[in-house]
Amino acid sequence: MIRIEAEPWAAMVSHARATYPNECCGAMLGATDGENKLVKVALPLENAFAGAQAKHYELRPEDLRDADKAARERQMELIGIYHSHPDCDAYFSPTDLRNSCPWYSFVVLSIQNGEFHHANSWLPNFEQTEAAKEELIY
Ligand SMILES: [Zn+2]
Repeated sequence: MIRIEAEPWAAMVSHARATYPNECCGAMLGATDGENKLVKVALPLENAFAGAQAKHYELRPEDLRDADKAARERQMELIGIYHSHPDCDAYFSPTDLRNSCPWYSFVVLSIQNGEFHHANSWLPNFEQTEAAKEELIY
């Protein structure tokens, strides 16, 4: 289960609306207790994908490292990654799966016509062949 506090959730939604019709991406920092995760900070990151960003996002490894460092500096953990799907459902695409890491939660925000529509959180398996839906509370 992943719970996102009001402040980071508002930041994620406004980031996803601001980059529409392109995808946004960012890091989620917080605390974990077994399988329960609490997101306390959303850290917007730049979509580094060189081509059309309406259906793609790419994180720079160094941005991810910085996010991990930022988490540790706040006595938190890097819990996962969020990105948006403009005018698309919050599913986990084959590309998302290929670019995933099994130890993170992946929150996908569906933005339809520029407005937040729905969101899902995904947990990829170690083989990166499939992702299970994780209970998401925001
Ligand atoms: Zn995606």
